[in-house]
Amino acid sequence: MDFDLTDEQRLVRETARAFTDGEIVERARENDRTATFDLGLVAQIAEQGYLGAIVPREYGGAGLDYLTYGLIVEEVGRGDSAMRTVISVQTSLVCSSLLRWGTEDQKRHYLPRLCSGEWLACFALTEPDTGSDAAAQRTRAERADGGWRINGAKMWISLGSHARLALVFAQTDPAAAHRGIACFLVDTEQEGFRPQAIHHKMGLRGSDTAEIGLDDVFVPDDGVLGDVGDGFRIAMSALDSGRYSVAAGCVGVCQGCVDHSVAYAKERRQFGRPIAAFQLVQAMIADMVVETDAARMLVWRAGFLKDRGRPSSTETSIAKLYATEAAVKAANTAIQVHGGSGYVDDHPVERYFRDVRVTTLYEGTSQIQQLIIGRAATGINALVPA
Ligand SMILES: Cc1cc2nc3c(=O)[nH]c(=O)nc-3n(C[C@H](O)[C@H](O)[C@H](O)COP(=O)(O)OP(=O)(O)OC[C@H]3O[C@@H](n4cnc5c(N)ncnc54)[C@H](O)[C@@H]3O)c2cc1C
Repeated sequence: MDFDLTDEQRLVRETARAFTDGEIVERARENDRTATFDLGLVAQIAEQGYLGAIVPREYGGAGLDYLTYGLIVEEVGRGDSAMRTVISVQTSLVCSSLLRWGTEDQKRHYLPRLCSGEWLACFALTEPDTGSDAAAQRTRAERADGGWRINGAKMWISLGSHARLALVFAQTDPAAAHRGIACFLVDTEQEGFRPQAIHHKMGLRGSDTAEIGLDDVFVPDDGVLGDVGDGFRIAMSALDSGRYSVAAGCVGVCQGCVDHSVAYAKERRQFGRPIAAFQLVQAMIADMVVETDAARMLVWRAGFLKDRGRPSSTETSIAKLYATEAAVKAANTAIQVHGGSGYVDDHPVERYFRDVRVTTLYEGTSQIQQLIIGRAATGINALVPA
């Protein structure tokens, strides 16, 4: 077992760290305060090659492996979960789906535009009445002349208001249940595609989240990703990459909590000494350090397996469950270390706390990850009760 990173991986990590500290951290607080989706910063992230990190160079990507991609996502996640979400959606949910399921024409048409940041894309699976039970899609796709007409509604869609391309999941044959779902590459520049931004979120205020109405949206026949009926499998394979990315971002949040807590505890004095000199404060920091390391190792293992093309769904769920819960806990503890100062946004721990809360909800809640892991351990599928 080799825990050393290669020279290239170290260099990519250092570059991502410097970029995060120099560009992202600077703007995260203001974007959060003003609930601004910072398209200029997104463009800079694209310029860095972070929107297509795992896409082969021939399609405009950076051609990096999953482990290296995870290092970038960790750094960006430490800076701002809102910007990390952009990477997770564009790279993991959308680009990885196109790579795995797309025709050569679809790859050549979409991937270079997505990797360069010329276009943003969204992944529209969740609906007002369909969350964890993703197979129960109510959005309908019906045959039309030369393609399909889609009607329905999507909910909580990251980048939904800014996407030029939307991966929309819809039911083509209700009798076929999840085998009737298809994934459509939707051109969002048509009247029937109606996004509406969701305001007043607890966190991720610097990220765009939208509900989307779909009224007779047209998709030509060559806009189906994979085969009709592949939709559910496409969604699950996308989430396998997406969960890895969310987990890596959460390792970054954990690390940020450690860094800020250590710095603050060494500077803040009470009872005539730095609070870092109190054993109970060190215990809080030690717990954060241990869980950060454990989360990182789980993410690295999932990346290692992905890079070797070995099965990794369970290991990815383990990493996602552990890292997201660890990050929620670390952010809470980091506020405790900061005392009252942690309750306002002078320090990033308050934003960490609000931003990271969603990570145990999206891309499969913690309960759904437990059911996936439990299914692998017992061989019994408790996701769909008998
Ligand atoms: C900010 C934000 C961004 C998002 N971005 C996207 C996006 O880009 N694309 C997209 O498609 N979706 C997105 N989502 C949606 C997200 O993936 C869903 O919210 C999530 O899947 C949970 O679905 P739900 O909210 O309907 O909760 P529900 O499924 O209603 O779950 C509610 C509770 O019930 C529990 N529960 C449900 N079923 C079971 C079960 N079988 N056993 C045990 N417990 C269960 C859940 O764990 C949870 O605790 C986003 C959500 C948010 C908040």
